[in-house]
Amino acid sequence: MGLNGGVKITVLAGGVGGARFLRGLRTHLREAYPNGDGGSTAEVTAVVNTGDDMWLTGLRVCPDLDSIMYTLGGANDDERGWGRKDESERVSAELTAYGVGWPWFTLGDLDLGTHIARSSFLRDGLTLTEATARLAERWPLGIRLLPMSDQPIETHVDILVDGKRRIVHFEEWWVKYRAGVPAQRFIQVGVEAARPTPSVLRAIEQADVILLAPSNPVVSIGTILGVPGLRAAVLAARAPIVGVSPIIAGAAVRGMADACLTAIGVETTTTAVAKHYGARSRGGLLDAWLVDEADAASTPVLAAAGIRTTAVPLWMSDVAKSSRLAADALAAARRG
Ligand code: GDP
Ligand code: CA
Repeated sequence: MGLNGGVKITVLAGGVGGARFLRGLRTHLREAYPNGDGGSTAEVTAVVNTGDDMWLTGLRVCPDLDSIMYTLGGANDDERGWGRKDESERVSAELTAYGVGWPWFTLGDLDLGTHIARSSFLRDGLTLTEATARLAERWPLGIRLLPMSDQPIETHVDILVDGKRRIVHFEEWWVKYRAGVPAQRFIQVGVEAARPTPSVLRAIEQADVILLAPSNPVVSIGTILGVPGLRAAVLAARAPIVGVSPIIAGAAVRGMADACLTAIGVETTTTAVAKHYGARSRGGLLDAWLVDEADAASTPVLAAAGIRTTAVPLWMSDVAKSSRLAADALAAARRG
């Protein structure tokens, strides 16, 4: 990997975990590879899950892209973890009065501005990649945001409610049911007709380092890798691939990733998730894997499975800690 600036880093990311990691990475790169103007010479491209996207109240909503855009744009509600800070909900109340949308899925007024702008771009014929770039122009992101695909893929979940089988949108299971009803399986609606965008394939091919953010391994990273051709592109890349564990001491740090792992028969442990991704030398994805210090015991186990594993602090409780974590991920890539 070229260490003299201009290094290209491609990150596969979901929403909240992805956003926190990318914010830390941006901070680290500004220090490690300064461009003299407050930014960095390093180029970061985030390939973002769009499986949680949906049409709601006539608008295209892209939760993971927006979590990243708001967080890097400094507009995220960090306390709540998602959405805009200083948000109000007047429009949402009107929509509910009309019986439009999902009453349990509040779209804030400022957030609705994003969805209206995006839907307007899409109606004008822009691709989601182009629409995302137009939205991103407004914010000082410092990284490039790419949806994994321009074709819609929606994650649906097969659940049993009161003994009846229902297939619901992922966000309904996640937000309305708080993942409290067991998922029987996930269905990627539209996946057959989808492909990665040329920009995504280029970002993977040209990367000096590929990072798997500490995002949900099933419905964020798993969905990205499920776009036909995308996993193969990652496997064929010349860059080392480093994953950061979203599981610490047997628990999903924030959110309910354990419910997703259970549904696909993977234990909620960092070892099981790493083995699920697999060692690159054995046909899987990972050259290296970062676990939390609390999981240091998994290091030899994973080394035996062919995955170079390092124990470092994994809690992204503030930007400084996230930045340290990003530096550790890049160091793990260099050790290859
Ligand atoms: P979502 O799309 O908003 O659900 O977000 P992601 O898929 O990006 O990530 C959600 C996952 O990130 C959570 O289930 C956690 O496992 C993981 N996560 C969240 N915060 C942290 C953190 O501080 N450290 C680590 N290592 N993982 C985290
Ligand atoms: Ca998500």
